[in-house]
Amino acid sequence: MTEKKPRWKSVSIPVEVWEKAKEAIESGELDMYHTPSELIIDAARRRIEELEKIKVVAEEYELSEEDVKRMARMEHTNVANVNGKTLIAVKDRTDGRIYDVFLSRSPHGQLRIFCDGDKSFDCAHVKYVRYIIIPKLNELIEYYRKKKKKEE
Ligand SMILES: [Zn+2]
Repeated sequence: MTEKKPRWKSVSIPVEVWEKAKEAIESGELDMYHTPSELIIDAARRRIEELEKIKVVAEEYELSEEDVKRMARMEHTNVANVNGKTLIAVKDRTDGRIYDVFLSRSPHGQLRIFCDGDKSFDCAHVKYVRYIIIPKLNELIEYYRKKKKKEE
């Protein structure tokens, strides 16, 4: 007799997280989900997809395993314009800090990416912005450009 592999596993989450998920669904803001479980499953799926994306990028640009680990712990939290430079704030769960990463143009027009926290042009935060965030921003810009064109 073969044993059936269970299709579901249970996990425990803090009540506070469950209630926030429930509120967001019931308020209609996240009404694409029917239950907190659906929302939480989607959140986990997105994180795993993000990691897959980082791995693909890491292979393409020959980044180290350490870079992959660091980048998987990052998320961009804000984009702002500061004195003519674009600032991308990156939260790094390795140390819980927010790193300010600035984009600017060199006198020759080349894109420069500088991490103010590390005073570096090639730390893990710079790589995260260069290989993960900028392509994502470009996708968004392209999306809104097409959408605007359609509306005209
Ligand atoms: Zn850095």
